[in-house]
Amino acid sequence: MEANIDSSTLEGLRAGLRGDAYVPGDEGYEEGRTAWNLNAHQAPALVVVAEGAADVVAAVLLAREEGLGVGVMATGHGVAAPSDGGVLVNTSRMRGVRVDPETRTARVEAGAKWADLVPEAAAHGLAGLQGSTSGVGIVGYTMGGGFGWLGRKYGFAADSVKEADVVTAEGELVKASAHENADLFWGLKGGGGTSGS
Ligand SMILES: Cc1cc2nc3c(=O)[nH]c(=O)nc-3n(C[C@H](O)[C@H](O)[C@H](O)COP(=O)(O)OP(=O)(O)OC[C@H]3O[C@@H](n4cnc5c(N)ncnc54)[C@H](O)[C@@H]3O)c2cc1C
Repeated sequence: MEANIDSSTLEGLRAGLRGDAYVPGDEGYEEGRTAWNLNAHQAPALVVVAEGAADVVAAVLLAREEGLGVGVMATGHGVAAPSDGGVLVNTSRMRGVRVDPETRTARVEAGAKWADLVPEAAAHGLAGLQGSTSGVGIVGYTMGGGFGWLGRKYGFAADSVKEADVVTAEGELVKASAHENADLFWGLKGGGGTSGS
């Protein structure tokens, strides 16, 4: 499938982004679409390299207006459905992590890898429920269940999730937890990728 996004739509998007938007032929497009798994070839019509939730909202809204599908990639370790002809939201620049030693919880941005969390948690004598490699994205890993070194004692990473900020398919930024948007929250905890971003 091929889709062309006209230049005024693209310029309008770019003007509102903190991150970048690339279409085929742009410098940055190749890097933006390339997955860690080099067997996964994706040919999106547009790559939005997001710097924050507002960029993700903008990408989803544009996709809706243009009638395009949306894919998400943090590291590309587990590309399931290539976003050919659609909008690929690349979250690899969103790598913030914050550990709260009081509640023994961490808040991570969409593109954070376990390698980002490990030292922050270790500084408080804590560890996350990571798997065999720290190069995997925390969100993608956890949305697929996430079973790692400490799994036999603490279970799936998904079972420890407290809440998530989610951009829905309608382009709304909502909270999901056991008390708010509980159905959505249920789906995030092991439902696999691309159930919101
Ligand atoms: C070398 C290696 C070792 C691994 N070891 C383990 C292990 O020990 N235990 C284990 O449980 N798994 C393991 N995995 C599997 C890994 O957890 C999955 O491949 C996981 O989906 C990778 O997530 P990612 O974000 O890094 O990859 P990505 O390919 O970027 O994302 C994976 C999926 O999640 C979706 N996704 C990512 N971020 C978001 C988001 N913010 N919103 C919506 N959807 C999103 C993507 O669309 C995609 O479908 C391993 C994988 C590899 C390659």
